[in-house]
Amino acid sequence: MKTTILIIALIITTTLLGGGLTIVDSKMSFEEATKGTKAPKELLDSIVLLNVEYYSTDKKLHQGQILVHKSVEEDVKYFFQMAMEEKFPIKQVVPIVKYKWDDDASMSANNSSAFNYRFIAGTTRLSNHSFGKAIDINPFFNPVIYKDPPKTSPKGAKYIPGNPGVFTADGRIVKEMKARGWRWGGDWTSLKDYHHFDKP
Ligand SMILES: [Zn+2]
Repeated sequence: MKTTILIIALIITTTLLGGGLTIVDSKMSFEEATKGTKAPKELLDSIVLLNVEYYSTDKKLHQGQILVHKSVEEDVKYFFQMAMEEKFPIKQVVPIVKYKWDDDASMSANNSSAFNYRFIAGTTRLSNHSFGKAIDINPFFNPVIYKDPPKTSPKGAKYIPGNPGVFTADGRIVKEMKARGWRWGGDWTSLKDYHHFDKP
C-alpha cells in the first residue's frame, strides 16, 4: 500500500517537473495560418505548417508553428533540432498572419517566421519568403543593418555577437545551414540581414 502511494507520488512529481509543461505559442490550422495571404493557390499547395519546439528566452520549452515550402521541411526541422541541442534560445515562432502579414510588426516582436507572400523590403521583387524558402529567426537579436543610409531594422535592435540567440559565422547553426545549401544574410556585403537564411 505504502509503496503504491509512493509510486503515485513519484509519477505526479516527475510529470509536474518534467513533461507536460510545454508553453504553446501557436496552435493554428493551416487555413488560419494562411488566412488573407495574397499567394496564389498553386503556391499554397506546396506550403506546409510545421509544429516546432524550442527553448525560449524564459528557458522554458515552447511549441510554435512555421509555414515553409515542403522542399525545405527537413532542413527547417533540423534547424530547430540544432537550436535545441545548442540551447540556442528562440523567442517565439508564430505564423506572421498574427501580425496581419506585417514584417515590421513581426520583427519588432522578435517573432521568427518563414512564409510571407511579399516583396523584399524597399523593392518590388518577390522575397524568397514568398515561396516559404526563407526563414527569419530572432529578428530583434539579429537585425538588418543597412549601410546607406545607415539604419537598423527593427527599430531599437542591436546586433551583439556572443549574446544568447544571436547568429555568428563561426557558430554551429550558421555553419551547418550553409553546408546544407542555405545562404545566411550575415554574409551579405550590401547590407547585413543577420536573422535571415534562405535556400532559393
Ligand atoms: Zn528574411
